[in-house]
Amino acid sequence: MAGATFLPIHPSYIYMAEPYETLLKKAYANVTEPSESVERFTVPEAKAYIEGKTTVLENFAEIADVVRREQDHLMKFLLGELGTAGKIDGNRAIFNGKFEPSLINNLIKNYVDDYVICSECGKPDTRLVKDDRVLLLRCDACGGHRPVRKRKARSEQASQEIQEGAVMDVEIQSVSKRGDGVVRMGRYIMYVANSKPGQQIKIRVARISGSIIFTERA
Ligand SMILES: [Zn+2]
Repeated sequence: MAGATFLPIHPSYIYMAEPYETLLKKAYANVTEPSESVERFTVPEAKAYIEGKTTVLENFAEIADVVRREQDHLMKFLLGELGTAGKIDGNRAIFNGKFEPSLINNLIKNYVDDYVICSECGKPDTRLVKDDRVLLLRCDACGGHRPVRKRKARSEQASQEIQEGAVMDVEIQSVSKRGDGVVRMGRYIMYVANSKPGQQIKIRVARISGSIIFTERA
């Protein structure tokens, strides 16, 4: 009776009898065959540099193309977040003022999070659609849809210089690894303890360290 316990394993041994070379060839064929569903969505790193009193985003058109959004929409977002004026110049975007390339890169990531990636399934196969007056992000992959986050309040605050002791109303946007609520404002990132995304909170700026703002409830 003991021999019977070996039986379930047996068929797999037969399968393995296929020559190793054949298996290898098959494996290779699978790897090299282009497959759209496996293709990864990678937003190009922002190629930005400061030129005189302006900041040039050299691969602006390429980024808009990859995220499949209208150049005007992406440009409007960047101008709002930077709190400045600028123009599209061929494949480039030019912003008035000097901005760190890393800031531009972060803003593009924010744009992708808010206007491109589906929060339900994480895929970028989405479209912006207007439903009445509300802008929705509709996902072709899973059928999900959600309102696009409002950016206005943040943009207005971004153009202001933030000082310690300032009191302001903020909306929590995300949660940090440590569990604190996070608000991004232009070049600043603000942490609010014991808060959840979507919450509206009145805070006081307790301390500013570089671009990091520590807060307390006001
Ligand atoms: Zn989806």
